[in-house]
Amino acid sequence: MQKFLEFDRVEAKKRDVVERIKDFDEIYEVFMPEKAGEQSERCIQCGDPYCHNGCPLHNFIPQWLKATAAKDLEFAFMLSNDSSPFPEVMGRVCPHDRLCEGACTLNDGHGAITIGSIETFINEEGFKKGFKPKFASSKIDKKVAIIGAGPAGLSAATFLLREGVTVEIFDKQAKAGGLLMYGIPGFKLDKNIVLRRVRLLEEAGAVFHMNTEVGKDIAFEELMENFDAVFIGVGATKGKKAGLAGENAKNVYLAMEFLTTIQKNIFREKVDKHIDVKDKKVVVIGGGDTAMDCVRTSLREKAKSVKCLYRRDAYNMPGSKKEYVNAKEEGVEFEFYVSPKKFIINDKDEVIAVEMVKTKLSAPDESGRQKVEEITGSNYLVEADVVILALGFDMCEYSFLASNGIETDKWGQILVDENYETTKTGIYAGGDCHRGADLVVTAVRDGREASKAMIKKFLA
Ligand SMILES: Cc1cc2nc3c(=O)[nH]c(=O)nc-3n(C[C@H](O)[C@H](O)[C@H](O)COP(=O)(O)OP(=O)(O)OC[C@H]3O[C@@H](n4cnc5c(N)ncnc54)[C@H](O)[C@@H]3O)c2cc1C
Ligand code: SF4
Repeated sequence: MQKFLEFDRVEAKKRDVVERIKDFDEIYEVFMPEKAGEQSERCIQCGDPYCHNGCPLHNFIPQWLKATAAKDLEFAFMLSNDSSPFPEVMGRVCPHDRLCEGACTLNDGHGAITIGSIETFINEEGFKKGFKPKFASSKIDKKVAIIGAGPAGLSAATFLLREGVTVEIFDKQAKAGGLLMYGIPGFKLDKNIVLRRVRLLEEAGAVFHMNTEVGKDIAFEELMENFDAVFIGVGATKGKKAGLAGENAKNVYLAMEFLTTIQKNIFREKVDKHIDVKDKKVVVIGGGDTAMDCVRTSLREKAKSVKCLYRRDAYNMPGSKKEYVNAKEEGVEFEFYVSPKKFIINDKDEVIAVEMVKTKLSAPDESGRQKVEEITGSNYLVEADVVILALGFDMCEYSFLASNGIETDKWGQILVDENYETTKTGIYAGGDCHRGADLVVTAVRDGREASKAMIKKFLA
């Protein structure tokens, strides 16, 4: 260990840009064993590991790095699966620069350990060797209904099954995974990686009721009656609109509507509407990870040009820096310090351009925050055949919450106590429907912690 002077930080190799924009396959390669070993050996094994605290799951990072360096892959695999329901997913999609790697002591000068890529390696190599995460061999007499098979729901299922609880999962989509399946594009996360974990849960006894919307195909009250507890993990995927003239035109789409339609086309599933960006000028408004997924998806769908318009600058983009760099490499054009004013429509109710205004940042207020201000008279037009709005998410409304005494806050987010229990006894919630649109890893933590609280109550 401590070989950070001998070995520089090396990131997982990316596929050649010309090749990778032709398909939806993952762009990062998995480390080879020698590289993963070398990179793990850079770890200085801090007494108080900051990476462990920077990870929302408090993963045993220095321990599995040491095991990887010592070529004890089985131990590394078991450790990484102990605190996480699907480490190879987080290894791929976590914004590492803001979490574990951002907190790594070596990030200050020498380059952080490539924690995410090593986490992915441990599990991919472990699965190749036939290792499997452990589940309970006997059952306890308790059953839990999970609404939503996204990261929160799948995590709750994993940790309940490990303790022998019977689990049934209800989801309105055809495939389990939530946004791992229908939101995050394949070039960031191969869908087979998610399906492999779903199969492991099925082998462990989980029953999936797909194409089943709670509140429509099955009553929430029926679940309350037939199960010892219910976990709600329904996400927050209602796209925000800009509130501007012309935004309801035919060719203005919300980010999730666009990404889900393209993914369903890839799966050959039925779609609600036809969206085609081939040979079109695509304009994406927004600067977060979802916007980056939309621009990069448009490129792969063979758009003529793809422009991303954002009201602040690259430094202030809320998403992962790595995704911005990838989008730039792939040919996306960025215009910063601009904000939409209205959409220009033709007589067929189609957008033909977006009127933008230039912006600047105000002087910092007492909290140090700088507001976005429009520059009067700086309006100009950007031509567009398709506009995609990636402006954030709101909670969907569920009538079964209020009618069963499950309280929400003013944004519609489900309120929970320190045990993830809602204001209705025996009903738990977590993930985006509780915290607002956030991250896979935080949804996973909520699912894990809610399961632990349920088990503690069952065994009390
Ligand atoms: C385009 C996009 C890209 C993203 N990229 C990243 C990334 O790179 N890294 C990262 O960490 N995070 C990313 N995120 C955020 C991350 O995906 C979410 O924070 C995470 O998926 C939330 O998990 P969840 O389980 O709470 O909800 P979801 O993943 O939204 O899952 C909710 C599930 O509930 C189901 N459901 C909803 N209502 C019902 C009902 N009434 N009955 C039955 N089922 C129902 C849905 O079908 C869905 O399967 C991204 C988000 C988006 C939109
Ligand atoms: S779960 Fe995310 S934050 Fe935690 S170690 Fe893995 S990549 Fe880092």
